[in-house]
Amino acid sequence: MTDRDVIIVGAGLAGLTAATALHAAGRGVTVLEARDRVAGRNFGGRLSNGTPVDMGGQWIGPTQTEVLKLVTDLGLETYRTHDEGAAVTLHRGVLTRHTGRELGLSEDAASEVVRLQVAAESLAERISLSSPWLSPEAEALDRRTLDEWLRANTENAEALEFWATQVPALFSAEASEMSLLHFLFYIKSGGMLSTLTGTTGGAQEMCVRGGAHQISERLAARLADAVRLSCPVRKISQVGNEVRVHFDGGQFSAQRVIVAMPPTLAGRLTYEPAIPGSRDALTQQMPMGSVIKVQVAYETAFWRKAGLSGLAFNLDDEVSVTLDTSPPDGSCGVLVAFFEGAHARRAVRMSLEERRAVVARSLVKLFGSDAAFPFDYLEQNWMDEEYTRGCYGGRLGAGVWTQYGAALAEPIGRLHWAGAETSDVWNGYMDGAVRSGHRVAEEVLAQLE
Ligand SMILES: Cc1cc2nc3c(=O)[nH]c(=O)nc-3n(C[C@H](O)[C@H](O)[C@H](O)COP(=O)(O)OP(=O)(O)OC[C@H]3O[C@@H](n4cnc5c(N)ncnc54)[C@H](O)[C@@H]3O)c2cc1C
Repeated sequence: MTDRDVIIVGAGLAGLTAATALHAAGRGVTVLEARDRVAGRNFGGRLSNGTPVDMGGQWIGPTQTEVLKLVTDLGLETYRTHDEGAAVTLHRGVLTRHTGRELGLSEDAASEVVRLQVAAESLAERISLSSPWLSPEAEALDRRTLDEWLRANTENAEALEFWATQVPALFSAEASEMSLLHFLFYIKSGGMLSTLTGTTGGAQEMCVRGGAHQISERLAARLADAVRLSCPVRKISQVGNEVRVHFDGGQFSAQRVIVAMPPTLAGRLTYEPAIPGSRDALTQQMPMGSVIKVQVAYETAFWRKAGLSGLAFNLDDEVSVTLDTSPPDGSCGVLVAFFEGAHARRAVRMSLEERRAVVARSLVKLFGSDAAFPFDYLEQNWMDEEYTRGCYGGRLGAGVWTQYGAALAEPIGRLHWAGAETSDVWNGYMDGAVRSGHRVAEEVLAQLE
């Protein structure tokens, strides 16, 4: 007789969705969460005027139907990201206004960017989302990095520089740090590049009023005592017909355990008996991206008066992409900016004041002198978070999908895996996390005695 039917490690969207489904099926569930809060990679900040801002996962797109259903079911509301006016691109000191779709590049570079996008999307068509390693020519696609493919397919330096801002914006990692197969899998998983990068009609269309972390908070409230905070799990032992989960402060047994956290962190737990080498090797080679997310607040969204949408591509500076994330009540203007990939790794060596100055200088170049005077600046360094260790998610470098990909979600005895990284659809996103929670709950329900 075990203490619980199922123990879930991690109270992010994946773990809480799985717990909700198992609870609804009448199963006894406990969720053990390391932090003193739920929501993992979703985290709510508050500006000095009281306005809530997302310091982690934020936007939801119209095709992210599972997370949208959850938002509605939990009585939360979304609002649309401001997407009216011109976008700007800064390249070699020249600022160009454009519609957003035009990219603000020279004609040659823009057509190269689009040609590469079409070529990548056409390659991505053939990728198997359920088993990327079994896709046609998977080994050849996995052997080379995205960076090698881009350089082999264009000599246009400006187009390459543009891609060098877009790839970190999606992955918080550089094109040299992921295989072409991983890139193709990821873009297909989200419904292709224009959907991933788009605002209206794309992944940045909506925000949750009050912050996306509330999705997890409301799920956890329904689960009440089944969610235990400040319980970092250290060891999982499979002994006969039960699994024992050892956390700071205790131990529980269950029929099945779901590990719902980023694979690289799952690899840091101790397993008894030791998990197979292929799973461990996968977790050693699935690093998280590097990102510092910044919300910069102004008395008004002054850029709108100048006919600007707030969307900017900056090919010159450390802050490559910005968007307008002002609250829907118009109480202030907010621009979100990111240090991503190599920029983030450089930025962590700066002081807070230096980063703040870098962001301000960049925003002044993009939006004019009013950008020099924010009333607040919030930042969140996800690399330093002990129970996340980087964002937006885990990525696979050259050769990893084809050699170890099968171990990503395959159960090991009574151990099951969930999390945004394990989803075929919207992999790496909140929607993917929710889908992985549904998938793992079904997997476990089919096995419970
Ligand atoms: C800056 C940033 C921006 C993002 N932007 C977007 C966006 O706009 N749209 C979008 O859809 N997605 C976005 N994402 C990604 C999205 O937030 C994640 O995909 C999603 O929240 C992952 O949920 P999860 O449940 O899989 O993992 P997590 O949220 O990481 O949950 C894992 C949980 O496990 C816990 N944990 C870790 N170790 C242990 C342990 N030893 N014992 C117990 N518990 C442990 C963690 O504390 C955490 O609560 C963003 C992420 C970041 C960080």
